[in-house]
Amino acid sequence: MKLVFATNNPNKVKEIKALLGESFEILSLSDIGCTEEIPETQNTLEGNALQKARYIKEKYGYNCFADDTGLLVEALNGEPGVYSARYAGEQKNAKDNIQKLLQKLADENNRKAYFQTSIALILDSEETLFNGVVNGEITHQESGAEGFGYDPVFQPEGKNTTFAEMSLQEKNKISHRGRAFAKMIAYLENKK
Ligand code: IMP
Repeated sequence: MKLVFATNNPNKVKEIKALLGESFEILSLSDIGCTEEIPETQNTLEGNALQKARYIKEKYGYNCFADDTGLLVEALNGEPGVYSARYAGEQKNAKDNIQKLLQKLADENNRKAYFQTSIALILDSEETLFNGVVNGEITHQESGAEGFGYDPVFQPEGKNTTFAEMSLQEKNKISHRGRAFAKMIAYLENKK
């Protein structure tokens, strides 16, 4: 079965190819000649994932899936959420985003936060959503050099290191994205 992954991130494509095995042929956006920016204008993660997957299905006709991830901080009423990538501005800079987050939480004792990944899968006319969540806390300072985004300030529940101090394998086992993809993969394995 051919499936398009509606992302421009080659690392994510590589990761899912390794997890899915050979019964699924994963195509990237460049494989199908999609070079335009896919609209992502909804105010929920699920909404954005669905919007991206529907765009590919409608315009290119492929079965496909799309993901959207956000960091939701309790004391900030769920900020940055869908704005995680551009929290500190359209330059989408991870260091700037982290600085803004740490400043906003400077006098805050409640450091609870979670990452959520939502995946929308479209197979013919059937739309299915998968969510993966990891609970944790925002640390007071950055620690670690692995990963990306908010990893240096996110400490998952039950661990005493940040995501940025873990290997990719270790992170994927418990991460929001790892969990959401595991759910979609289990679903797809039944469709073979
Ligand atoms: P995307 O939907 O996967 O592009 O993620 C949106 C934004 O959420 C990214 O630009 C990062 O700021 C943040 N983010 C997503 N996944 C992670 C992660 O695994 N660790 C840290 N930050 C992440």
